[in-house]
Amino acid sequence: MNTEPHGYRVLMKLLFGGEPPAWRDRAACADADPSLFHTAGRTAAAKAVCATCPVLAECRENQLSWEANGPARYRDNAFGVVGGLSGAERRRIHYPARNAKDVA
Ligand code: SF4
Repeated sequence: MNTEPHGYRVLMKLLFGGEPPAWRDRAACADADPSLFHTAGRTAAAKAVCATCPVLAECRENQLSWEANGPARYRDNAFGVVGGLSGAERRRIHYPARNAKDVA
């Protein structure tokens, strides 16, 4: 019997198509408070954890790929720190043209 909470299983299905990849076990955030990564005003603290993470590259690639290949709302509503990037930073990666317009 699977003892993981339903929400966790749904998230793993969405993010990884089922089970989390092996690299996830080495994540610096494995034992961190999850709210750290999704709370306004704590971005710098969350990024500090990511900066020490041995699987930052894998995590970042996975998140950007998931957002890029999913429905537009995944990109448009990107929030929280994942892979060392804030939601705003990931949106700028997904929408560089919009980025340029913002600057102009
Ligand atoms: S890069 Fe950050 S969000 Fe990704 S696994 Fe590592 S600590 Fe967690």
